[in-house]
Amino acid sequence: MQKTAMFQTRVKNNLIGFRQGSEKPLAFHCDTLDVAELSEDSWQALAEGLGPKEIQTPGVSKALAELLSWADTSAPSVPAKPRARHKIDTLTVNVTQICNLACTYCAAGGDGTYGDPTTKISVDKTLPQLSFFLGKLDPGDKFTLTFLGGEPLLYPEGIELISKYLEQEAKQKNITLRLRIVTNGTLLNQKNIELLTRFKMHVVISLDGPPEINDAIRKTKSSNFNTASILKNLESLMARKNELASISLAAVFGSGNLEVLKCYEFLSSFPVDSLSLCFDHSSHDSSDSQKFFQEMQLVAESAWSKGQESELRRIEYFDKVFMVLDQKIRITNFCGSGKNFLMVDAKNTLTTCPWQAGKPEESVGHGPTLFEDRLAPYQEDLVSKNNCHSCWAKYLCGGGCMYSNQQATGSKHIKDAVFCERQRGLSLLALSYYGKCNFEDGYGVEEN
Ligand code: SF4
Ligand code: SF4
Repeated sequence: MQKTAMFQTRVKNNLIGFRQGSEKPLAFHCDTLDVAELSEDSWQALAEGLGPKEIQTPGVSKALAELLSWADTSAPSVPAKPRARHKIDTLTVNVTQICNLACTYCAAGGDGTYGDPTTKISVDKTLPQLSFFLGKLDPGDKFTLTFLGGEPLLYPEGIELISKYLEQEAKQKNITLRLRIVTNGTLLNQKNIELLTRFKMHVVISLDGPPEINDAIRKTKSSNFNTASILKNLESLMARKNELASISLAAVFGSGNLEVLKCYEFLSSFPVDSLSLCFDHSSHDSSDSQKFFQEMQLVAESAWSKGQESELRRIEYFDKVFMVLDQKIRITNFCGSGKNFLMVDAKNTLTTCPWQAGKPEESVGHGPTLFEDRLAPYQEDLVSKNNCHSCWAKYLCGGGCMYSNQQATGSKHIKDAVFCERQRGLSLLALSYYGKCNFEDGYGVEEN
C-alpha cells in the first residue's frame, strides 16, 4: 500500500493547528469555522505548554499574541430559527422489505427484510400518512422522500402511486418536492428508468467497487444479476441523465472490503454527479477504521491530481465539509434523526433511523400518529446531548451517529471512540484540502 503522511496537530484554546508531512501548517478556528495559513513562527507558538512567559523569540511571541486574539473571536450568535414541533421534511419509505441481493454487510437483517419480509407497502395506508406530514409544512418549504427497501424497484407500482400523489399535493401546497431512490441497480430496465425520469428523481446506485469486489460483497440470490449487468443498466440510465435530477454511486466499506482507493478509481471513471464513500455505520473495529482513513487519504490525493477542487467536491464527504466552511454554518446534528427526519417501514411504522426499522422498542409512531413521548428525547441538538463541547471538530461532525454509538457502546449518546477518531481524521483531511483549494499561493511544499 502507498504510504500516507501523518497529521501533526497542536491545539490551543479553540484553535487547532495541523500540518501533514512537509506541507505548510494551517489552523482551524473551531467556533468561527475559519481556516488560515500559519507561518513557522505561529506553528511554533502553538506548541504545547508555551505561554507568553516561556517564549524568548520576538517573532514567536508576536505570533502567539496574534493567535490568542484570533482564538478570542467568537462566531456571531445566529438566533436559532424556531422550528415547528415535529415538522418532518425528510422521509425514507421502505416500499418493500425484500431484496434480490444479500450483501455481506446488510444491516436490514442481512437480506433486506429487517427480519420481517413484506413484499409491498400498503399504498392506501401510506398516502394518508404522507398527507399528515405534508400538512405540517408551510408553502415554500421543501420535502424530500427517499424510496428505500429491501430493493425498492421490486415494487415499482408503489413508487409510481406514491410519487404521483406527492407531485399533486406538493403542487397544490406550493412545496418543493425532491424524490430520491436508493437502488442496487439490478432492476434498472427501460420500464423502471422511464418511471424514474417521469418523476425526475435523484438516483443513488449502491456499488462497492469493480466487479471482482462488488460481486463478492453484494451477493446475488439468483444467477440473473451480477456487476456486469448492473453496469449495463447504469449505461442505459446515464443515457437519460438529463431527464433525472442526479445520479450518484454509493459504496460502503468495512471488514469485507477496505479497498477504498481501488473502488474510487473505478467509480470515478463514470461521469456521475457524486460519489459516496462511507464506512459501515455498524462497524466499530479500530484497525478497519484506521485502514479506511488511510485509504481516504489516498483517495483525496488521487481526486486532487485528477481534477483538484471539482473532483474532490464530487466526493460527498468533502463537498459537505467544504460547504460548511464556505457558508460558515455549524452542524449541530450529525443527522436529522427524530427532528426533521423519520423512516417509514413497509408496515407504516415510524422510526428515527433506517437501521432501527423492525424494532418495536424503537417505534416513534404509526401511520399518521406520532408518539410524542418517544420523540421528545430526540429534540436536543446532538453536540450537546452527546457531550461533544470539548471536541475541536464538533461543528464539522455534529455530534456523531446515534446508531454507531448504540452498536459500539450500547447507548445512542455514549460516543463510539473509533467513530470519533475516524471523524476527526477525516475532518483534518478535508480541512487540509480546503487549504489547498483556497491558499494556492505558496501552499504546498515548504520553502527554504
Ligand atoms: S467526533 Fe466524536 S466527540 Fe467530536 S463531535 Fe463527533 S461524535 Fe462528538
Ligand atoms: S443515526 Fe446514524 S445511521 Fe441513523 S439516520 Fe442518523 S446518521 Fe444515519
